[in-house]
Amino acid sequence: MIETTRNIAKFHCCEDCGEPPHALDEILYTCPKCGGLLEVRQDLEALRGERSGAQWRKHFDGRQGTIEWPYASGVWNKKELVLPQIDPEHIVSMCEGNSNLFWAKRLGEQLGLSDLWIKQCGVTHTGSFKDLGMTVLVSQVNGMLKTGKPIQAVACASTGDTSAALSAYAAWAGIPSIVFLPANKISIAQLIQPVSNGAHVLSLDTDFDGCMKIVQEITRRHPIYLANSMNSLRVEGQKTISLEICQQFGWEVPDFVIIPGGNLGNVSALGKGFLEAKALGIIDRIPTLVVAQAAHANPLYRSFQGGFKTFEAVKARTTQASAIQIGDPVSWKKAVKVLKENGGLVEEATESELADAAARGDLTGLFNCPHTGVALAVLEKLVSRGVIQRKHRTVVVSTAHGLKFSQFKVDYHHGAREDYTGQFRNPPVALPADVDAVERCLKDRVFKR
Ligand SMILES: *Cc1c(COP(=O)(O)O)cnc(C)c1O
Ligand SMILES: [Zn+2]
Repeated sequence: MIETTRNIAKFHCCEDCGEPPHALDEILYTCPKCGGLLEVRQDLEALRGERSGAQWRKHFDGRQGTIEWPYASGVWNKKELVLPQIDPEHIVSMCEGNSNLFWAKRLGEQLGLSDLWIKQCGVTHTGSFKDLGMTVLVSQVNGMLKTGKPIQAVACASTGDTSAALSAYAAWAGIPSIVFLPANKISIAQLIQPVSNGAHVLSLDTDFDGCMKIVQEITRRHPIYLANSMNSLRVEGQKTISLEICQQFGWEVPDFVIIPGGNLGNVSALGKGFLEAKALGIIDRIPTLVVAQAAHANPLYRSFQGGFKTFEAVKARTTQASAIQIGDPVSWKKAVKVLKENGGLVEEATESELADAAARGDLTGLFNCPHTGVALAVLEKLVSRGVIQRKHRTVVVSTAHGLKFSQFKVDYHHGAREDYTGQFRNPPVALPADVDAVERCLKDRVFKR
């Protein structure tokens, strides 16, 4: 089936410095004129001409449950708004997105909320929302390769999840990948994913920011495509989280959406998704966006405290929420813009707060990663301050699967850290293989007296 779309997405300078737009098949990460970040802009005028808001909703709903390539993916369900001009033959997809959005009834009750939801973006191919952006970026690269662009490999520096997603999607397409990881700073699961997917895994004796500098230099010197979050193609995939949440609520818009933020690409993406959906009449309002930061890496929180008048990078300290241990976020300008214009909020959580919040959630059936713990801790704070109230429909975006961060949980439950209150600890009990001993133990814990 030949598709026609009048919307042609292009790279634009975020600073609007006067640089003309560039085609998406140019190898470009920042504005050639002013060095600012680029963003992909869709032709909203053309999209409005194609369908009304109601027609778009019906169009996307009509693809739910399909097996027709590539629309089974939650990202490509919205193809016309994501990468309209790509040939479906060139798309690299593993059916990402369409992640479950579930009612956290019991956790909500504990916190005094009746309408709390968790969007499980980590229940996906490589276990984090990074899949949503990578399907778009790697599809674009695949299309460029198929039309003769001389690209030898894709590369990224990573705090763990980006490299897992990049190497998996590259492996699906048969494109070589190179990942730069800070030695001893990521989880075993995150390290072994790119190894298994056949990436060239370079473990460097530095931190994330150090890896970033090296990958930028290498991709400048060689025809290797840079897949880091300064690459604005990923935002186009990640923004579908917003549309998908609304679609799952029958196109109703929640009141609050809470999301953990590090490099701040994902909150920028979420904002872009909501704003475009509103501009196209697909939804009628924007929810209050809340960015949750670890207190050990909180430059956005500090900026918010000062009314966003200034923004200063910080030296990030070690946090269990390793994927957001970023002191100098690439996308801060995009994030500040969307928060400022739409009344967004920023809050922070300490190591103990994030660990307790993750553990409390787990006791109601979740299995949270530490970043989701940051978001849940921030939720608790906003509830206790009366900002989020009982009837507000609130969505917490869970960014990764807890199974990737099992050491975080082991440390918590075994009481390995002195800075944790550990109020929800549940360590396993070691007993001899003896019925009486087992009965004595269960007598206190389980049996009714
Ligand atoms: C990447 C990542 C984040 C942070 O997203 P940003 O776009 O860098 O703000 C949060 N949680 C997890 C699990 C991640 O992998
Ligand atoms: Zn520019």
